Amino acid sequence: ALILGIESSCDETAVALVRADRTIVAQAVASQDAEHRPFGGVVPELAARAHVERLTPMVEAVLAQAGIKLADVDAIASTAGPGLIGGVMVGLVTAKALSFAANKPLLAINHLEGHALSPRLADSGLQFPYLLLLVSGGHCQLLAVDGVGRYRRLATTIDDAAGEAFDKVAKILGLGFPGGPAVERAAKTGNPFAYKLPRPLLNTDEPHFSFAGLKSAVLRAWAAAPDKSLPASADLAASFQAAVVDCLTDRTRLALAVMPEATALVVAGGVAANSAIRDALRSIAVGAGLPFVAPPLWLCTDNAAMIAWAGAERLALGLVDGLDAVARPRWPLDPDGEAVRGAGV
Ligand code: ATP
Ligand code: MG
Ligand code: FE
Repeated sequence: ALILGIESSCDETAVALVRADRTIVAQAVASQDAEHRPFGGVVPELAARAHVERLTPMVEAVLAQAGIKLADVDAIASTAGPGLIGGVMVGLVTAKALSFAANKPLLAINHLEGHALSPRLADSGLQFPYLLLLVSGGHCQLLAVDGVGRYRRLATTIDDAAGEAFDKVAKILGLGFPGGPAVERAAKTGNPFAYKLPRPLLNTDEPHFSFAGLKSAVLRAWAAAPDKSLPASADLAASFQAAVVDCLTDRTRLALAVMPEATALVVAGGVAANSAIRDALRSIAVGAGLPFVAPPLWLCTDNAAMIAWAGAERLALGLVDGLDAVARPRWPLDPDGEAVRGAGV
């Protein structure tokens, strides 16, 4: 089957054509970094308008790139949440219109399921069940992935998401937007031992994450720093990144202990593009005797290939949606998610 995927839940407009045999036939990602940079963060209204402007021409361009017509596609998949609701609606309504016009099934995809299954697009050998560290702009969770649509949340953040912490620290240190890659770049030249920063919940039995205290500590350390030149900010960026790595690895180890059936340790989401985090997780997997699977960098950050792929996985199970599918600003992956209060769902 050939799936057309659409992603528009944040500030990437993306379209992809992916086959059930994992062939990426064509794809395009348009980042809106330039639009949002003057504001130091994503402005939802601007994002939605940019999706309206770009999405339909990108669908045409991707079909043309593949040399096919809409009628050659077997199903249309779009992110239906969670995310910035204006953008989600643009993508979902576009997908509904295409689905209706071409008389092809609609797949209303949870963006987090796109991230969660993306490692299976990159690696045909990855089988269920696996332990997934999902680290992105809005989420930081450890999930037992038992199958398509079958997720058990083992841990989540009790305050900020990991990517959010990277973005805020980049802002504090004046490193630029988008923040995650900027912090990683600065950290490469810095000394990770230069600043003593807290590692919330480290070495406790509490399975969850917390990054708000770490972010505040960075803010205080920077306010107190006598010298605010690049070597100093690089040191603080490196110290911050080291603290995040310690927290992520410590909680992942704890989760592996409660999921002995896991066949692999997997990381996904935008923050999974960070090489210090990837390296640290790889050594945990090696220590546990498990394969480590991390998608290529372009597949970690938002893209439509992962949405098309999640669509392919769902279509294979007959899990199609109706034209009445709703757009959801919040949409936890696990069934218990709605019950968890204020916890990054
Ligand atoms: P969600 O998927 O939770 O809805 P999102 O779609 O906005 O959120 P992603 O696109 O998956 O998030 O990831 C973007 C996040 O990843 C941003 O917070 C960004 O700073 C972070 N990020 C990207 N590259 C890196 C990196 N190299 N190091 C650390 N963080 C990074
Ligand atoms: Mg982005
Ligand atoms: Fe995302």
